Amino acid sequence: MSEQAPVVIVGTGLSGYSLVREFRKQDKETPVIMVTADDGVSYSKPMLSTGFTKGKDADGLAQASTESMAEQLGVQLKTFTTVTGIDHEAHELILGDERLAYSKLVLAWGADVIRLSIEGDGQDHVFSINDLMDYRAFRHALEGGRRVAIMGAGLIGCEFANDLRNGDYEVDVIAPSDVVMPGLLPEPAANAVQQELEALGVRFHLETVVDRIDRNGEGVRLTLANGETVDADLVISAVGLRPRTELARQAGLDVGLGIQVNRALETSVPDVYALGDCAEVDGHVLLYVLPLMACARALAKTLKGERTEVRYGTMPVMIKTPCCPTAVCPPPAHADGDWDVESDGTSVRALFKNASGEILGFAVTGQFAVEKQSLAKEVPPLHG
Ligand code: FAD
Repeated sequence: MSEQAPVVIVGTGLSGYSLVREFRKQDKETPVIMVTADDGVSYSKPMLSTGFTKGKDADGLAQASTESMAEQLGVQLKTFTTVTGIDHEAHELILGDERLAYSKLVLAWGADVIRLSIEGDGQDHVFSINDLMDYRAFRHALEGGRRVAIMGAGLIGCEFANDLRNGDYEVDVIAPSDVVMPGLLPEPAANAVQQELEALGVRFHLETVVDRIDRNGEGVRLTLANGETVDADLVISAVGLRPRTELARQAGLDVGLGIQVNRALETSVPDVYALGDCAEVDGHVLLYVLPLMACARALAKTLKGERTEVRYGTMPVMIKTPCCPTAVCPPPAHADGDWDVESDGTSVRALFKNASGEILGFAVTGQFAVEKQSLAKEVPPLHG
């Protein structure tokens, strides 16, 4: 490794760009190279599920071009460049036939969408939306169509369902769970969101899965395990994300559900760090914006030479279902306690309390959603 080797960051999503923004507040000199498999355009991923509500297509959601990001941040950007390996002993990143030396390497390469293998010849009508380029392809394919089937009733499936209804599309949601957003919302809050989405015109097919997707004219016909069929112009697959770990595993880094890092965002090998959707930070895999922003602030200081540990506070998530405003702060996994639920129609206040009455998590919908800030102050931070 030469002393002059740059800091190299893989990924130009919110993690990569937030990190460089924070780093440049303190260090304008150190050379930084950012490598990304995509076009490097800056955008806010959470906005992808608000395009119709806000009247924005892919171009409207783009925030800054690659060139202007490179200039603003004083970095060199290598776009459409896929990392194929890491040689951490040589301090080199492998880009196909090329090698790129680094002094410090940051992995901010996100999570992969889970793809289901489903029978039928309609697969080219199935879209996963996990970045702006995916969104562009989806909007292009939707031109002229009116009916969208969504596989998955998690946060992303429900947000797209609401957004597409706001764009006046017909929407069917198919999922194996008996409630929406299982594992994220307690049942009364989930039922409230489902009821409001149904009132908006979303059709739910729960406790079943898609067995086949076959071409049907210009669109597709989905055959469900319960025998129903759903006709659609295209299908969104929103069945989950998995942190990208394979290249890290091959390079010998410790990997669990994500690339394992300590609170200083250090992987198990020297001078390699990870944050964002690909990382398992001190045992937490949190695929949200607030955790990655906290990590970016801490890691920027570490890269500058002041080793800093991230401290996760209380991090509520706003669910972008405007038909039923919802905020959730899930209690820690395996926390002891019970949900205390109060409701008024589809307005639900669910507080997860331990035996001493302390609030460890909450979910609020409808008119109670405004209590998010005040409740968040009562919940102990993840890193106390
Ligand atoms: P990404 O944005 O996925 O960036 C990964 C980068 O790595 C990309 O530039 C990619 O090209 C690059 N890359 C990957 N592999 C390679 C490789 N081998 N070589 C080179 N480059 C590579 N979170 C919230 O907190 N609130 C919300 O309301 C919310 N809404 C969401 C709505 C949707 C529709 C989605 C999909 C997510 C939402 N999230 C939300 C989650 C949040 O957006 C993500 O946690 C966050 O954007 C992840 O950023 P990232 O930079 O870690 O990953």
